[in-house]
Amino acid sequence: YKKIVLASRPQGQVSPDNFRLEEAQVPAIGDGQILVRNHYLSLDPYMRMRMEDVKSYAAPQEIGAVMVGGTVGEVVESKNPKFAVGDKIVGMMGWAEMGVSDGVGLRRVKDGPIPLSAYLGSVGMPGMTAWYGLTQIMQPKAGETIVVSAASGAVGSVVGQLARERGCRAVGIAGGPEKCAYVVNELGFNACIDYKAGNLQADLKAATPDGIDAIFENVGGEIFDACVARMNPFGRIALCGLIAGYDGEPMVLNNLRNFLTMRLSMRGFIVSEHPEFWPQGLQELGELVASGKLKFRESVAEGLAAAPEAFIGLLKGRNFGKQLVKLV
Ligand code: NDP
Repeated sequence: YKKIVLASRPQGQVSPDNFRLEEAQVPAIGDGQILVRNHYLSLDPYMRMRMEDVKSYAAPQEIGAVMVGGTVGEVVESKNPKFAVGDKIVGMMGWAEMGVSDGVGLRRVKDGPIPLSAYLGSVGMPGMTAWYGLTQIMQPKAGETIVVSAASGAVGSVVGQLARERGCRAVGIAGGPEKCAYVVNELGFNACIDYKAGNLQADLKAATPDGIDAIFENVGGEIFDACVARMNPFGRIALCGLIAGYDGEPMVLNNLRNFLTMRLSMRGFIVSEHPEFWPQGLQELGELVASGKLKFRESVAEGLAAAPEAFIGLLKGRNFGKQLVKLV
């Protein structure tokens, strides 16, 4: 079977040379283990941070080791009484077509009415990120205005839809007219600003006539700065991601003064920090997806060999919705 390992650490932008595709023998499993065939691999921005050897919330990816990654797949052989052949499971099997596990940290899921791939998106880690940041950090009240950047993506799309469910005005920021039209017409946000159109500050002002009460920040840089300038007193900021800076661009905040004058609070968070919220969050997300109320979109690359280019595309905004790789 095929697997992809980290070949070298990126200097600035990630390049295909940072990865290496390898062939591996299907291993014999021991007592307590299962053999899993992965159907989908999730590509996520955090992987860019793991490729660097810096202090972070998780240890860096080791050179020569299989790239870290969330997967959904099927048990094909089992010597573990808790898993049967055919069970569908979500786990962290990495950038590989197959893998061996002792079952720890795997979640068993049903195929339908929620499609398997959604367990890597709206009903998985990205959806949970949206749920946690919104309900636990932003804590918006009905009638408040929230803004979310990277609004058409895996996390951002869920943030706005959950905020609308809670009676908020949801304003998205995304790159290009097609993504913005989708965010408003399909996802039901009140407005979406195309930051590539060149009128970010004026467009944001027009879309937030009552100011902004809470931000869900995914991008950083100019986009974040423009939002900070529109914050109302005691506004809350859930700092979820800074994707504009992951490839090495400096992140500058010019409107720091607004933190003082508007008495803002900002909290960085990692979705795994409070696992006790996951059952409740996944329950709500699963019900909303199953009933068709929570909409999502996927960009699917075909075959493991396509993963490096798809990952580079994700960091450049070439994905439209949750980026996946279909393995089998
Ligand atoms: P998305 O599906 O949103 O894809 C990434 C998107 O980011 C791109 O499509 C692009 O959208 C946007 N983007 C990329 N580069 C830039 C740039 N320079 N300026 C502006 N926008 C850019 O990815 P996810 O939903 O998986 O992740 C969104 C954010 O959430 C990331 O920052 C990620 O790190 C963070 N995250 C944090 C977690 C946590 O626990 N804190 C957990 C999961 C995700 P566009 O075309 O609109 O620019």
